[in-house]
Parts: sequence; C-alpha cells; structure tokens
Amino acid sequence: MLNLRDFTETELEALVREAGQPAYRAGQLFKWAQSGARSFDSMTDIPKNLRAFLSERYTVTPPVELKKQVARDGTRKYLWGLSDGNCIETVLMEYKHGYSVCVSTQAGCRMGCVFCASTKGGFVRNLTPGEILEQVLYAGLDAGVRVSNIVLMGTGEPLDNLDAVLKFIQLVHNEKGLGIGERHISLSTSGLVDRIYELEKQALQITLSISLHAPNNTLRSQIMPVNRRWPVEELLAACRSYTEKTHRRISYEYALIRGFNDTDACARELVSLLRGQLAHVNLIRLNEIAESPLRPSTTETTQRFCNILNKSGVTATVRRRLGFDIDASCGQLRRKFELNGGM
Ligand code: SAH
Repeated sequence: MLNLRDFTETELEALVREAGQPAYRAGQLFKWAQSGARSFDSMTDIPKNLRAFLSERYTVTPPVELKKQVARDGTRKYLWGLSDGNCIETVLMEYKHGYSVCVSTQAGCRMGCVFCASTKGGFVRNLTPGEILEQVLYAGLDAGVRVSNIVLMGTGEPLDNLDAVLKFIQLVHNEKGLGIGERHISLSTSGLVDRIYELEKQALQITLSISLHAPNNTLRSQIMPVNRRWPVEELLAACRSYTEKTHRRISYEYALIRGFNDTDACARELVSLLRGQLAHVNLIRLNEIAESPLRPSTTETTQRFCNILNKSGVTATVRRRLGFDIDASCGQLRRKFELNGGM
C-alpha cells in the first residue's frame, strides 16, 4: 500500500481524476492526510465511493508509537514502528520561540561517524517523504502543540536521501498542511559535498548545518569516514559557494571531545578556517554513547574554547543539552531498542 502522505496536492489531483472525481477533492484529501486523519472513513466530506477507491490502494495509518519518554525539561522522545517493522526516533523540544521537532531521514545510517549511535547498526533504508512528515505531524498532535521549527538532525544523513527530503520540505510548506516555511527548517549534514552543490541549486531558504567536529583532515578523518572522500577544504569551498548563492548563514556543529578536538590550538585552527565567513559555530559537549570510548570535554574547557572563537570574531555558542535524562540524542533510544530486541 502506498502512503497517501507521500503525495503532493498536485499528485493527489491526478489520483482523484483517475478515480473519476473532480480536482478539488485533492485539496480536501491533502488537508485530511496532513491534519493527521487515521482512516479514510474519518474523512467525512469525501464521498463514500472515493473513500472506498482510496482505501483499496492507499493508507493513512500512522506509525505505531512503540515508546515515548518525557524528560524533566519537557523534551519528548518517540520511538515509532513503521509499516515494515523498522523503527525510527523523533524528538520534540520546547524553545523560547516555539516547538521544534527533530526528525530522522533514514532507518540507520551509512556514514559511520565513530561517536554516533545512529550508525552503529548500519544502514537499513531511506524514509519516504510521508514518513519524515508523519514524525512532525504526530509528535505535534501527541503533545497538543503547534510545531514551528523542524531540524533534520535525527538518525540518517539527509543528503543521502535528498529527493525524499526535498519533497518533504515541499509537503510541509503547504498551508493546507503544516505550513512550515523554509526559514524554519534546518538540515544537518556530515558533509556530502556533491549533494551540497545539488542542494544549492534548489535555492532554498533553509538553514544548512555542517557537522564539522574537527578543524583539520588528520583529526576529522579519524572520527568521520566521510572526510576521506570529501576533505575539509572541499567541504568549506562548498559551504562558501552555498552562502554566496543563498545568502544564508551556515551553522557548524562541533562536538567537543575530551583531549581530542578541544585544545586551544584546535580553537585557533577553527578560527583560521572560518574567519570572514557568514558562519555560526554550535558547540556541544559530546554525548557519551555506550559503543565509544570518547568522552565529553569539561564545561570549563567548552567555555574556554567558545571564548577563543568569539574573541577572534567567529560567533559561537554552547548548545544546551535537552532531554539529557532520556537518551534524547543521537539515535540512542533506537539503538537500545535494537540491541534488546524490543523493550
Ligand atoms: N547525518 C547528519 C544529521 C544527523 S546527526 C549529520 O551528520 O549532520 C545530528 C548531529 O548530531 C550531527 O551534528 C552529529 O555529528 C551529532 N552527533 C552525533 N552523535 C553525537 C554525540 N555522541 N555527541 C554529540 N553530537 C553528536
């Protein structure tokens, strides 16, 4: 069965025509699907024969909530079961400016970053646009809030599933659905340089985040295999090109790992790499995961690193760790679930 939420309104028009129905039904259907309808029967203004036609070919059944955790700071983490038995995780966070949902774009991941739990079980499959969208939709419905921001920073490499991600951005933008604009969407990548150029061609207004985590190739290649294919110089050239084209500031993610990438020398090297660029550095103390011996830097070292950047004209902030008590980061919930064969 095809997921009705994978279809744009225009695609739905073709679909209702095929069923011998007028095009305006597509708008109604899109609204129902995107507002969270769980069955065709609940779509009361759709004629019964069209509902029957659709229910034989398509589904609007949401993912199953396998587990939900609510942290002391209000962060909610969901583990969803998909129709084929795979599971994915989603996080809903509350910020001063509203609610933000962090979505997964793949089941598993093939990037192999040594510090990341999401990649430890390997790559399983790409998510469809509708499966990415349902994470935003059902997290918002569950919490009873309007989601205003989306970060593509859950499990998976969004640029490794670019077509689905682009369609998701288009779907979520439609006012008949969630109506979330490009400027409220951030996409994080480990640095697939060829895809950054492809994304640039789309001229979107989304925020691009780069998982940099090291200021040179020697260090970066040790923790991120992608760096052996696309080294730091090529990555930064793609970023410069991206900002020239879109005039959007790029965010650089930098997880501070004790004794590895947190020295003053590393901070200065990072400054020379980024100075003069339209950039912002997000520093985060590494989240410890079971499968890796890497440890977070101390809060003092983190602050010191941050100060060096700011004093040298590279804007940097230390990111709060939300949902720390519920494994809300980096694929840890899904990983535990997999290892335990369910909870
Ligand atoms: N594949 C994409 C998006 C998913 S990861 C990417 O690599 O950007 C989202 C962010 O969490 C990335 O910046 C990633 O490097 C970071 N991350 C993964 N594991 C982490 C950990 N243990 N501690 C801190 N940050 C981590």
